[in-house]
Formats: sequence, C-alpha cells, structure tokens
Amino acid sequence: MSDDLRDLYQEVILDHSKRPRNFHAMPGADRKAEGYNPLCGDRETVFLDLDGDVLKDVSFQGAGCAISTASASMMTESVKGKTRAEADALFARFHALITGEGDGGDPELGKLAVFSGVREYPVRVKCATLPWHTLKAALSGEAAPVSTESEGPAAESGGAQ
Ligand code: ZN
Repeated sequence: MSDDLRDLYQEVILDHSKRPRNFHAMPGADRKAEGYNPLCGDRETVFLDLDGDVLKDVSFQGAGCAISTASASMMTESVKGKTRAEADALFARFHALITGEGDGGDPELGKLAVFSGVREYPVRVKCATLPWHTLKAALSGEAAPVSTESEGPAAESGGAQ
C-alpha cells in the first residue's frame, strides 16, 4: 500500500465514520435486515426501498466501529440506484479486494478501493463486510438477524489472507 493510498484510506474512513451518509431509519422501507458482528460489537440495520429490481433508496442505522460505520456509509452511496445483480456483483468485487484476492486497481470499485487497507488488519474484514452481508440479507428477505459468526460455508474464515 502506497503512502498516498494509506493517507486517503485514513481520510475517507475518518470522514465517513464521523459523518455517515444515509444514516437514518427509513419508515415504510420495503425491506430491512439487522447485522451483528460479535467479534467487534458492531450492530447495523440496513433499510431498503425497492423499485422492482432497483435499489431506489438505501439507508442504515446502528452503532459500530469506525470501519463498519464508514463501510456502511460508503455502501449505501455505492449501491443506491443499482439493480440487485449489480449490487451483488459489487459486493463480490469488494470482498475480493479486502480479502486480498483483488489488486485494488478494480475501476468498478470507485471510492470503495480505499478499503484495500483493511486487508492489513484481518480482524477488521468482518467489520467492513458486515453492512454488505446485512444488505444481502435485506435483499433476500431474511427475517433473522445475520451474524458474521453464524454463516454457512461462504463465511470468512478469518484466515483468508
Ligand atoms: Zn468493527
């Protein structure tokens, strides 16, 4: 990670954690889901307003560390206006980036590329992916809260560096 990217990482994460975007409940949301990361204590609720297959509006609420809050904030900005398939594809790219499979030069990721810094802190990967897992649960209509520690075979092992 270059010094420039490291500075940008800290700047962007600090900005979004202190002033999270789309940080509010959504009365009358079509979908919502709760996510919990017991390793860190992050809790987030993601709200969705769907227009057919399009994520017309996305918001979140909750309490968590700077990484989870910044990730949720940037996620809402990134997926708003996208289709479910596009949001799923973006999550796959984001996941590859922060687990070290991506090279960080993926142009589709835009500002989310700053999260490549998270791969240097494996324990933070779950903080950064929590809002995305929660979004996925909201999209699939899961009623039970999702936990980063009770997923199926697709869960991060924590050793996937
Ligand atoms: Zn956290």
